[in-house]
Amino acid sequence: LVSRKKQQEDTVITLGDITVGSGKPMIIAGPCSVESYDQMRKTAAVLKEAGITVMRGGAFKPRTSPYDFQGLGIEGLKMLKEVAAEFGLKTISEIVDPSHIELACDYLDVIQIGARNMQNFELLKAAGDVRTPILLKRGLAATLDEFLHSAEYIVSRGNTQVMLIERGIRTYEKATRNTLDISAVPILKLESHLPVLVDVTHSTGRKDILAPCAKAALAAGADGVMVEVHPDPATALSDAAQQLNFEEFKLFLADVKQSGLL
Ligand code: PEP
Ligand code: MN
Repeated sequence: LVSRKKQQEDTVITLGDITVGSGKPMIIAGPCSVESYDQMRKTAAVLKEAGITVMRGGAFKPRTSPYDFQGLGIEGLKMLKEVAAEFGLKTISEIVDPSHIELACDYLDVIQIGARNMQNFELLKAAGDVRTPILLKRGLAATLDEFLHSAEYIVSRGNTQVMLIERGIRTYEKATRNTLDISAVPILKLESHLPVLVDVTHSTGRKDILAPCAKAALAAGADGVMVEVHPDPATALSDAAQQLNFEEFKLFLADVKQSGLL
């Protein structure tokens, strides 16, 4: 069902005033984790001013270490929703438990399925049973074929509102946290009719190359870019090293816009 052979026209997903997959690329921005109302309000104000309409923020955080901040859970979803409503933004956040999917629809405009859960098939089935758009991340070591099969799990249950996002894969290269597979963008666009986005933060894991990677993604045909922004990255409870502060975010945006690709 996700194959371009089955459906020639691009799937277009509507989120309020914006559409994803219609040819006009979008930016999803926000902190790695939802931490407080203050943090979310400060971020929302900057996004709003910059013309960004979709805010991210993790409430259920899949962390490598069980001793690291695990997220605020449902409380975090509440904060995200409340602040987004205040500023007129759409929301996106990761859900990790199939039993939370239905509940998540009350809080989120887009449900994210994270890289570590790309092949959590019960989670994919639950995501297929609702009608809230899904942002599916590529697994850490998933082939594009496996990625598309995971999307098929969701679409085959009736939820056609699926966006794919490349977020870097494991390779031997240590200069970046993961290796951004730019070729995934045109290949996924050729193979599938679903919107394709690129997460520049988690793929690179370094702030100094976010703008060129975002431009490369858009030049390759991506329908959008995800980037992490935090009021004070040094004190962030997750991904402190790679989130942009507000000034850096504005420079990033200006740089990407100057390319004419956004
Ligand atoms: C995230 O976007 O918050 C995240 C954890 O990303 P990934 O699943 O790609 O590692
Ligand atoms: Mn993060």
